[in-house]
Amino acid sequence: MSDKGYKVEKVLPYKKKKEGKEEQVKEMFNSISTHYDAMNRAMTMGIDVTWRRRAIKSLRKYKPKLILDVATGTADFAIEASQRLRPLKIIGIDISEKMIENGRIKVAKQGLSNVIELKKDNCLQCSYDEALFDAVTVAFGLRNFENLEKGIKEMYRVLKPGGNLVILELSEPSFLFLPFYRIYTKLIIPFMACSLRQDVKAYQYLPTTIQYFPKGKEMIALLQKCGFKEVKYRRFTFGVCSFYRALK
Ligand code: SAM
Repeated sequence: MSDKGYKVEKVLPYKKKKEGKEEQVKEMFNSISTHYDAMNRAMTMGIDVTWRRRAIKSLRKYKPKLILDVATGTADFAIEASQRLRPLKIIGIDISEKMIENGRIKVAKQGLSNVIELKKDNCLQCSYDEALFDAVTVAFGLRNFENLEKGIKEMYRVLKPGGNLVILELSEPSFLFLPFYRIYTKLIIPFMACSLRQDVKAYQYLPTTIQYFPKGKEMIALLQKCGFKEVKYRRFTFGVCSFYRALK
């Protein structure tokens, strides 16, 4: 990190000078919400489902009763967590109304509306009390934050002491796979988005944020700086996805 923050915070979807990252990110997710799940499955060849399951499994022994799913989007993580962890309640928050709308439809179809509540809220100024949640989860959301440190500090604030934070984030693989990965993310994914008449800018923004997002030691140091301890880090699928679990 430089004095001016993390490089990923400066990566914008639309490069509109008058709008900050948060506004642009919201606009982007609102515009891609309808086909978000289908694009996810296609881009990751369905492996994203396995990553979420592995992250959720890491929480099983803690039996969290109240979970906050940050950047919940269309609620894939919240639905899977509710089915596998059987908590009393999961609150999913997101800044994009359209992502949440689609999430609510999925939650209702699964008969989980009594367990999962989706709300419009910003993780950088979270509306919840201190030390409320047994676990906080965030899957593929952090790259989009305007202020990474502020977001992580908020997640720390709302967690109960002894509670777990679980993070999944896309990352670049080890150097052996990097050339293929760069071609895939910088050329093939935007091409797929174009063929499916999706917002191509959103799928150009994706690889740039992945490239600049802190990973491994840098991310562990950031989590520790924000107060977390016992940080565990694992790389899934040759490092294409990074998993962190940390304790308050
Ligand atoms: N967690 C979901 C999943 O596993 O598919 C959705 C991830 S999606 C790539 C990222 C989500 O982060 C978007 O829905 C976006 O609106 C949300 N987001 C970005 N910044 C946010 C913030 N500051 N607070 C809450 N949600 C945010």
